[in-house]
Amino acid sequence: MFEQLLRRAEQVRAKRPRGRYAPSPTGSQHLGNARTALIAWLQMRLKQGVFILRMEDLDRPRTVEGSDKQILKELEWMGLDWDEGTDCGGLFAPYTQSERDAHYVAAFDLLKQQDVVFRCYCSRKDIRDAASAPHDKLPAYPGTCRLSTPAAGNRPSSWRYLVPPGSVSFKDAVSGSVTQDVQRATGDFVIRRADGLFAYQLAVVVDDLLMGVTDVVRGIDLLDSTPRQILLYRAFGPAPPNYWH
Ligand code: GLU
Repeated sequence: MFEQLLRRAEQVRAKRPRGRYAPSPTGSQHLGNARTALIAWLQMRLKQGVFILRMEDLDRPRTVEGSDKQILKELEWMGLDWDEGTDCGGLFAPYTQSERDAHYVAAFDLLKQQDVVFRCYCSRKDIRDAASAPHDKLPAYPGTCRLSTPAAGNRPSSWRYLVPPGSVSFKDAVSGSVTQDVQRATGDFVIRRADGLFAYQLAVVVDDLLMGVTDVVRGIDLLDSTPRQILLYRAFGPAPPNYWH
């Protein structure tokens, strides 16, 4: 089923450029969000492409009630419009992540079949303690549960993607050539959290793939996540979109 949806999206993707703006409804938008939305919209309008509005509300604890509607109002106030989205639907509805769990489950099952995910029982604290020096950012995952899963009892586990060795390179249309050794930068990364929620890295790839997105315009803060996402594209098959960070 997931593979069928992938093929359908591939066909749509080959016909016209498809861009998206994917805000998280965690409160008021800031100027950086407005700029991203404006550029993503402008790009699609200039290319006679399709502009998609997707609401990324997976991080439920951070979701602020009503801010999805507020974001729509703000975008309208800016004079932007969209062809597919949370309020108007479209070919690949629903466009709200909390309603797309079945797709994430299907994608996750596919990764399980490929044997490229594993259970991890480490807490954030375990990972911090495993690093020799304190870091502001969470250090790279040291691989504790990669080879041998400790006796778990009833402890909840997250699921991590098994990062292959070697580096990932891609050409960003704004930032230029990027190369990252994902194993060193972040290590095996979480795709499903211990509370059952799917992680942003998995959801964003599944959504962009299944919505046939050709161009991703987003903030530079997400440049660092892109190599991880490219690894997931490789696992699913289709080529990644063009990136504009
Ligand atoms: N939802 C993310 C954010 O608001 C953006 C994700 C993306 O564009 O890939 O930061």
